[in-house]
Amino acid sequence: MEKYSYTESAALLARARKALAGGVSSEFRKYNHPHAIFYNHGEGSYIYDVDGNKYLDFTLSQGPLILGHSHPEVLKAVAEYSRQGQLFAGQHIKEIELAEKLQELISSAELIRFCLDGSTAVQTALRVARANTGRQKFLRFEGHYHGWLDNVSWGISASSAEAMGSREQPKVFPWTEGLPERARDEFIILPWNDLELVKKVVAERHKEIAAIITEPVMCNNSCILPAEGFLEGLREICDEYGIALIFDEVITGFRMSLGGAQQYFNVIPDLSIFAKAMGSGYPISAVVGKRKWMNLIQDARVIHAGTMNAGNPTVAAALATTSVLEAELPYERMFLYGQRLMDGLRQAAAAAGQKLLVQGPGPMFHMGFTHLDKVSDYRDSFNYDKAKLGKFIAGMHDRGVRVIGRGLWYISAVHTEEEIDTAIKAASEVMQTI
Ligand code: PMP
Repeated sequence: MEKYSYTESAALLARARKALAGGVSSEFRKYNHPHAIFYNHGEGSYIYDVDGNKYLDFTLSQGPLILGHSHPEVLKAVAEYSRQGQLFAGQHIKEIELAEKLQELISSAELIRFCLDGSTAVQTALRVARANTGRQKFLRFEGHYHGWLDNVSWGISASSAEAMGSREQPKVFPWTEGLPERARDEFIILPWNDLELVKKVVAERHKEIAAIITEPVMCNNSCILPAEGFLEGLREICDEYGIALIFDEVITGFRMSLGGAQQYFNVIPDLSIFAKAMGSGYPISAVVGKRKWMNLIQDARVIHAGTMNAGNPTVAAALATTSVLEAELPYERMFLYGQRLMDGLRQAAAAAGQKLLVQGPGPMFHMGFTHLDKVSDYRDSFNYDKAKLGKFIAGMHDRGVRVIGRGLWYISAVHTEEEIDTAIKAASEVMQTI
């Protein structure tokens, strides 16, 4: 095996650190192998770095690139529509076309607002829920990621499961310094997938609760599927107490199905957030919801704004992405290839005598080294051998297969069966060395 070298990236990182805080523009980009890497182009399933290394890419830039890198239809639409202007501080026709398309594809999308990213769209949905109910808190779940802003930067980091205290009254820790203490009062947190516990807490505290927010699949931690009846149960609880059910579909949107996880599981939330895969890497997201809830934005009682929202390139990118997905309907293939890769990883681990757990629906899935047969919530995830995963990811990277450091894999609509098998072959080699 020819060893990959990262000397150019290392030199650029040293230069970057003198101008960019930490050398990067998003914290997660630091955690690459062997350090932050500088890329110079991407095409289809592949991305290339400044040292001339080529990688078969399963990060898809943390999810957005459902059509792979540089999809020609997306680039064409962006170039053509950008020639007419970039941002009007006013309306344009394609914004309506995109909103109408989302209405057509997503069951709960009766009214829509566009934002730039998942984090701000989440906050918009929470504001709508608070305004509609007159209640202040939202209920959320341990280990679910809803962006990096103050009121959701808790419950996603802990030193151990024991440190998190009892399941009924969990302890939460700030993810970062600089959080206002009052942000801690905005939410109630519980372990995920435990419907009886949610029922109990909501029965006691429903007068405080405006919304229950959840990733419909816990993609950000171990890629955990909802327990049988869990999402349906949340729907019933929210109906009973007049609480907004919010699905954070930032990852599941356009990935589980054209209508998101809500269509896949046939559980319809009141409000939901779509982002990553919607725009093929251009900054666009959407808060969508039932008229009953979104009417407060319609009537300007809830303010949602943003200078950069729904500019020409981003809307064009989303229209092109949804139209390619609609024309090609790659979902069956993405599930199939995902399952093939998951099975391949399991076999590679078994052949090397490694205890590996691979779980998730297929279009995205998680792998981690543990003796457990199943991981059902964030607390379970402390049983993973993170050091071993780090060695595995590094070994794959050195063989030209790029995977997100925490073990999450994304399948795109352009990955081929041959590429899946290339990844399995690399994994078989690496499993023997760690
Ligand atoms: N929600 C979920 C489920 C996410 O996975 C993410 C990003 N990983 C966010 C919200 C935040 O989105 P963004 O990074 O676009 O702000």
